[in-house]
Amino acid sequence: MNEMTPLHTPNESPPANLGRRAFVRQGAWAVSFLGMGGLTALSVEANESTSIDFEPLEVDEATWREWLTDEQYRILRREGTERAFSSPLDKEYGPGTYVCAGCYLPLFSAEHKYDSGTGWPSFWRPIEESHINTKRDFKLIWPRTEYHCARCKGHQGHVFSDGPKPTGQRWCNNGVALRFIPADQPLPALRQAPA
Ligand SMILES: [Zn+2]
Repeated sequence: MNEMTPLHTPNESPPANLGRRAFVRQGAWAVSFLGMGGLTALSVEANESTSIDFEPLEVDEATWREWLTDEQYRILRREGTERAFSSPLDKEYGPGTYVCAGCYLPLFSAEHKYDSGTGWPSFWRPIEESHINTKRDFKLIWPRTEYHCARCKGHQGHVFSDGPKPTGQRWCNNGVALRFIPADQPLPALRQAPA
């Protein structure tokens, strides 16, 4: 992520989940604080953060085979790529949350989804930076930035720097690696390793 624009710039409006009262009370310093990556502290004070404390989920291959469909396994556990325009989530624009299909950790919000025209669900930022990890990927000749779920390490997609404002990022995700939870439904509990 080093070469990309930070998620929160001083010009960005306050995040929707930041309580208005908290924002007004904290005033101008809150804006500059956001620019320095202080979102976590502010969100805790506003008590409406989407950030979840989680432990890494580690389960054996047999469990993944049991939990996932063949296509989910190929994408999430073997860094596969689904065929473009094959996922119904590509054209899903209802309000809600996109959770990891492997472990159910929330990864993206419908608020940050847009039509990139690529045939894959695309977002201009993840729901929480702490829910995503990245690594360099040299599978093609030029390096790409692969990203995966921070909890189960399930491969999700690649992030590029040709996305829309305000971040300029395009988080290009395999639809089969996500599960969409409409806003009027509760988020599923995080999947836990079998006892
Ligand atoms: Zn996961």
